[in-house]
This record gives sequence, C-alpha cells and structure tokens, in this order.
Amino acid sequence: MNRFSRLLDGLAKTRRAIADGLRAALAGRRVLDPEALERLEETLIAADIGVETTTHLLSALRDRLGSSETTEESAAAVLADEIERILTAAERRPAATGGARPLVTMVVGVNGVGKTTTIGKLAARHAAAGRTVVVAAADTFRAAAGEQLAVWADRSDAQIVGGAPGGDPAAVAYDALSAAVARGADVLIVDTAGRLHTRSNLMAELQKIRRVLAGRMPGAPHETLLVLDANTGQNAIEQARQFDRSLGLSGVFLAKLDGTARGGIVVAIAKELGLPVLFVGTGEGVADVEEFAPRAFARALVGLPEDGAGARPAA
Ligand code: GDP
Repeated sequence: MNRFSRLLDGLAKTRRAIADGLRAALAGRRVLDPEALERLEETLIAADIGVETTTHLLSALRDRLGSSETTEESAAAVLADEIERILTAAERRPAATGGARPLVTMVVGVNGVGKTTTIGKLAARHAAAGRTVVVAAADTFRAAAGEQLAVWADRSDAQIVGGAPGGDPAAVAYDALSAAVARGADVLIVDTAGRLHTRSNLMAELQKIRRVLAGRMPGAPHETLLVLDANTGQNAIEQARQFDRSLGLSGVFLAKLDGTARGGIVVAIAKELGLPVLFVGTGEGVADVEEFAPRAFARALVGLPEDGAGARPAA
C-alpha cells in the first residue's frame, strides 16, 4: 500500500463524514445558499475542525464561490485549498540542530494517548534509516511503561536506559543521554510520564528533564514532540495548549487517526495553536505511521484524490 492510500485508509471515517456532509449540503441545490452553509457548518464542527476554523472555511467558500454554480468537487477544492494554507502556515521551521549527535527528542503526552507505541514507531523509523537509537524510559512511575517500552525498543534494536521504579526521571534522562553520547548513538528518544491528576507537578517534572538534558548537552532536547489521541477532539487542543505553554513544543504526533471521524482536529491544532502536526499514527503496528504532508492531508480530508503536487519526498 502506498503512503497516500494508507493516509486515506486512516482518514476513512472522517472523509466519509465530510463527503456525506458536503453532498447533503448541496443536495438538489446549484449554489451554496445559507441553509447549505449551515448544514456544512454542522458537518465541519462534528469533524472537530473547530468553530474558529469552520467560520473561516465557510467565509472562504462564500467569497470564492459566491453565487456561481457549485458542485461537490468545486466546494471540496476550495476547502482543500484553504485547509492546506492553514496547515502550511503552521509549519514551524525545524530547530537548527547543527547535525547534533545524538539528536535528542523528548516525547510528552498524557497517559493512554499512545505515547509508548509512538516511541516504538519512531525508533523503528530511525532504525530502518540505519540510525542507532537509545530510548530513555523516564516514566519511572508506571512500572508497566518501562517493560512495554523495552518490548518496542527490542523490536527496533534500540538500546534502552531505565531507572529504579519511583526514581528521579531527570536522572534517567541524564544517564540515557550520557549512554547515548558514550555509544555514539545517532538518536535519543526520551519517554516521559503523563499522569493527569497532578498536572502542575507533571509540567515541573518535564521542565526539569529539559534542564538536565540541556545541562548535559547544550541545545538538547532538540525536539519536543507532543502525542495526542485523535479521538479526544477539542480536549486535545487544550492539552496541546498547556504542554506548549510549559515546554514550547516542536510539533504534534497525532495517534489513532484511524478509527476516528474527528480527523479535522489536525486543522484546528494548526489554526488555533499554530502547531504543526508532524506525524500521524494510523494503526497499532510499528509501521503504522505517516509523515505529515499538508497538501495530501487536505485533499484526503475532503475526499479529493491525490494530485501529486506538493508531495514531500518519502523520508
Ligand atoms: P500510552 O499510555 O500513551 O503509552 O499509550 P500506549 O502506547 O500504551 O497505547 C494505548 C493504546 O493505543 C494501545 O492499545 C495501542 O495499541 C493504541 N494505539 C497507539 N497508537 C495507535 C494508533 O495510531 N492507532 C490505533 N488504532 N491504536 C493506537
């Protein structure tokens, strides 16, 4: 299966909802009248594109299509174009890492979003590209987290550095970075805790990990990636806002895009927070990950076929 058809597959439920909504909005009409726009508004909000973004998209439709004859395709093309613009505008330039070795990525997110699986996928991608990987199991509170991580790490030949249960997560991160440097590893991925009930403590703990990493290697962590569960809808926006405020994120890994009809959340994250989605998770397997491409995503989201333009080379 090629990358676009995997993305289509992952987005199937969201696409169906939006395509059905467009069809219903235009049913028996030749133009997008106020009632049609209202129906479309409901569809887009239900797909978790967000109120602000939906308002923007509807006014773009009004401006660009006016009272001219409208088909599902022409309306979808305008939506895809506007969505692509929003997604592209949110792309943050990657931090200048100066070819840092190891490249240090800190992975954050609340428990259950798919963080451990995501780290497994990222480690496997690096390993497939011939890079050596060390994983820091810095969630010392969940005994199972370290074990689960070890299984994933094993599958991609990554080395894992853990600590005693209940130990200091920042110390684990420090040790793992020292080990990665000593071994000449290309990449260090730092898993972190994500318990929800003590959020201010959690943020303080994550900030401490950042400080300790930076103290051991200036410039580290080079990336801070937030994992979000696509099923959580608007709640994901709130999580992203809090983590970004406390840690300054590089971008989002949106897990579980398959199986949700709320894939529009990607657009809301870009528009409301200016945060880029860098990867999407499209299944439970280690290979079920796609590098995010704004144009392909925008077209897939509204049910248009791939056009090849603007595609990024496969990484
Ligand atoms: P953590 O608590 O955040 O570390 O979450 P886990 O990595 O343990 O994942 C929680 C559940 O989500 C597991 O059942 C995973 O298989 C599942 N999961 C993770 N990523 C994806 C994804 O992209 N798609 C699907 N369908 N399931 C996923």
